[in-house]
Amino acid sequence: MPLQFHQFAYNSDNYGVLVHDPVNGKTACVDAGDASAVFEALQHTGWSLSDLWVTHHHWDHTDGLAEVKSKTGCHVTGPEGVNGVDDVVKGGDTFEFAGSSVELIHTPGHTLDMLNFYIPEAQTVFTGDTLFVMGCGRLFEGDGPMMWASMQKLMALPPETVIYCAHEYTLASAAFAVSVDPGNTALQTQVVRVQALRDKGLPTVPTDLATELATNPFLRPNDKAIRAELGMTDATDAEVFTEIRRRKDQF
Ligand code: ZN
Ligand code: FE
Repeated sequence: MPLQFHQFAYNSDNYGVLVHDPVNGKTACVDAGDASAVFEALQHTGWSLSDLWVTHHHWDHTDGLAEVKSKTGCHVTGPEGVNGVDDVVKGGDTFEFAGSSVELIHTPGHTLDMLNFYIPEAQTVFTGDTLFVMGCGRLFEGDGPMMWASMQKLMALPPETVIYCAHEYTLASAAFAVSVDPGNTALQTQVVRVQALRDKGLPTVPTDLATELATNPFLRPNDKAIRAELGMTDATDAEVFTEIRRRKDQF
């Protein structure tokens, strides 16, 4: 039986996700920025928490960790330096969850400790604040070339991979994407689609890699039209990526 996923919103724009195995009843939660939101999601699904996976140290992903852990006794897996983590993991590590293998992908840039949790069997990855729908995380601790290297790790996953990211930043990301890639018809179609979802109050997350490869400017620094738009025809991909990120900061 396939894993089941339940995404829930918290704070002004965060998403957490419950990952549930219906066979043995195990449930993991990706990030715990708000304990009461986690408990509400557990009550809603009727699932009981066995595991907690932490993507990075920022408060909106960890503030609820201690309370969730003490009330559920869950086992916490995450990067070094986060209080309450039982199993410190790093990029390239794998662990087993409910019979599925989970691979850790280190994607520094937004923070240096950022880990993405990839479940190949479920064709699903949790990208934290690295890759967003049509966007990417701000560079708080890393630089452009570092984040571009992280993006390339995600771009190497199968195109059908489902991507859960940790924020609903999509409409702002979309407006920026159009500004650097105005002639992209796949992007224009996606903008209409996500606007319709937001008009109904629905999440635009998850997305999938094929869609992001076609529409997300942060995955497209080698695109001729984007390079022409930026006047960077002969620059490296890392340079173009860094310029796109710089422009987004000022958008
Ligand atoms: Zn963050
Ligand atoms: Fe965040």
